Amino acid sequence: MARTSNRFTRGSALFTCRCCGRSTRDTGRGDNEGVRLCAECYDLAGEENHMADNGGDLYSSPQEVLRLISVIESKGGNASCWADLKAAAEEKQNV
Ligand SMILES: [Zn+2]
Repeated sequence: MARTSNRFTRGSALFTCRCCGRSTRDTGRGDNEGVRLCAECYDLAGEENHMADNGGDLYSSPQEVLRLISVIESKGGNASCWADLKAAAEEKQNV
């Protein structure tokens, strides 16, 4: 059974997200392959930076941050690296 393994678009490298540990690939969005983050962690990293640069304000919303974290967890990733961000989002959501 010779089957050509071509599940992924040619040119998109498969790599392991250095944050949640999931196998992922270059989504073509920004520089996520360069930083070795999956799409969700890449967005969360952006939120964390935005929060640090803007006195604790999120770029999107606490709901979006929690949604991204739940996507990582539902796909079997380890979201513990976002524990601080999750706590901050939950706090904002409860205000
Ligand atoms: Zn990730």
